[in-house]
Amino acid sequence: MTTEIKVAPYDQHNQTLVKNAHPPDWQNPQPNGRYNLLVIGGGSAGLVAAVGAAGLGAKVALVEKHLLGGDCLNAGCVPSKAILRSAKAIGDIRRAADLGITINGDVSVDFAAVMERMRRIRADISYHDSAQRFKDLGIDLYLGDGHFAGAACFEVDGRSLTFSKAVIATGSRAAAIPIPGLTETGYITNEGVFELTQLPQRLAIIGAGPIGLEMAQAFARFGSQVTVFDILPVMGGLRDPEGLALIRAALEADDIQFYLESQTQKIERVGVEKIITFTHQGQSKSVTADEILLAVGRRPNVEGLNLEAAGVEVSKKGVVVNDRLQTTNPNIYGAGDVAIPAQFTHTADATARIVLQNALFMGRKKYSDLIIPWTVYTDPEIAHVGLFGYEAEERGTSVDTFTTHVQETDRGRTDSEEGFAKIYVKKGSDKILGATIIARHAGEMISEITTAIMAGTGLSTLSQTIHPYPTQAEIIKKTADAWNRTRLTPTVAKLFDKWLSWRR
Ligand SMILES: Cc1cc2nc3c(=O)[nH]c(=O)nc-3n(C[C@H](O)[C@H](O)[C@H](O)COP(=O)(O)OP(=O)(O)OC[C@H]3O[C@@H](n4cnc5c(N)ncnc54)[C@H](O)[C@@H]3O)c2cc1C
Repeated sequence: MTTEIKVAPYDQHNQTLVKNAHPPDWQNPQPNGRYNLLVIGGGSAGLVAAVGAAGLGAKVALVEKHLLGGDCLNAGCVPSKAILRSAKAIGDIRRAADLGITINGDVSVDFAAVMERMRRIRADISYHDSAQRFKDLGIDLYLGDGHFAGAACFEVDGRSLTFSKAVIATGSRAAAIPIPGLTETGYITNEGVFELTQLPQRLAIIGAGPIGLEMAQAFARFGSQVTVFDILPVMGGLRDPEGLALIRAALEADDIQFYLESQTQKIERVGVEKIITFTHQGQSKSVTADEILLAVGRRPNVEGLNLEAAGVEVSKKGVVVNDRLQTTNPNIYGAGDVAIPAQFTHTADATARIVLQNALFMGRKKYSDLIIPWTVYTDPEIAHVGLFGYEAEERGTSVDTFTTHVQETDRGRTDSEEGFAKIYVKKGSDKILGATIIARHAGEMISEITTAIMAGTGLSTLSQTIHPYPTQAEIIKKTADAWNRTRLTPTVAKLFDKWLSWRR
């Protein structure tokens, strides 16, 4: 019997979620012999590893202490993208007049309904990550908080699970920072934010990373007065000045106030209000909020696992792994947020696949071979893959950057949208080192560049690739065409000229 987990508000949707992701009446199995693979953590990485291994006929144990589906399903990608969809609709409604549409009557946001929609969608998706599904796939699922009892033994719920190979996939949680008064005043993280049923009138967000920016735009569009603080001049992982200016302008158009390069001094509660005192551009200032969302990065979940007993070394960043994702115990691997710096669901998935091949089939797959795209789902989106131009230069590679603006595509103009695509190539060649796209559907477009990098395809091929007209993805072809034009050197131009005049 497992302990009952409640997710607030405990309505029918969250009850369905819990029934699927951590059934209160779940009976843990009795282990019967050694497992080929023990998976600790049932989030994106753990589930891919467990399902993949079971599908290949391995004897698999999966241990999850909280909710199956991990952060992505419960307090990350799924709920955030569900509420961002509502926020996007508000963005469109606000632009209605620009598009020639008059809205007669009031348009209002029903925050409770937005959040209920999110909970319903999350509950619907949770069937895919349900305990029953994994049992039906032949996986021995143990719900509970366990720990290593040796180099090849893990204990949970009074049972000893022995294994040939194991993977630690326990994910991460919101990091905290030592701001005086923060803990006493109280704050929410990515977990609490999706439990809200009432819109905070004034929301302070500490951290202008992907989570901070996405939530800032969503809550600003829902009607909160949002202030975002960051110690760095960076937003959403971007350092590119043009990109930063574009994203900042888009978010400021949603009435978000930014204090980048600010230093939070203290936080105090006065009655029900939370007062943030900070320095910005040499001045001491304060902002009053009803709620504070802390989004300053992630911390690995390694506590309580008794990793020393298993000979697994741990650092501040998580379990220490080599390029083949082996920990310091060669039979134990790390996957997902707990082990790697690129903390996304798709990398959790990709690292789990590396572990499957390396752990079960003596594979030699390397983490460093992965080409990892990422997207910040603001409106417009920020998507990136490979190296930034400045990163390549820092590594000693000279770079040519080709840029096309969304307004240079007909679809960008028909849709009245802004943004750009920048493709970084090795100087003098068409070899793609990386790309950044800022556009409403940048996340959909970045995969074309990812595929090109994976396949070793250069801008020459992209410029010959027919893109449907009119799509915003034509921005990629146009950028490749810009590279193509550089091949028209004065000598080549002269030769063309001669040839054409002879043919007249
Ligand atoms: C607000 C937010 C939005 C996000 N949006 C996106 C997005 O749009 N796209 C994207 O790619 N990524 C997104 N991410 C990141 C993504 O959620 C994570 O990178 C991904 O969930 C990592 O998967 P994981 O399996 O490593 O960890 P998790 O999904 O966190 O799973 C780890 C699991 O291990 C369990 N666990 C922990 N300790 C133990 C233990 N001792 N014993 C047993 N089980 C344990 C946890 O309960 C959890 O279920 C977002 C994250 C947040 C917070």
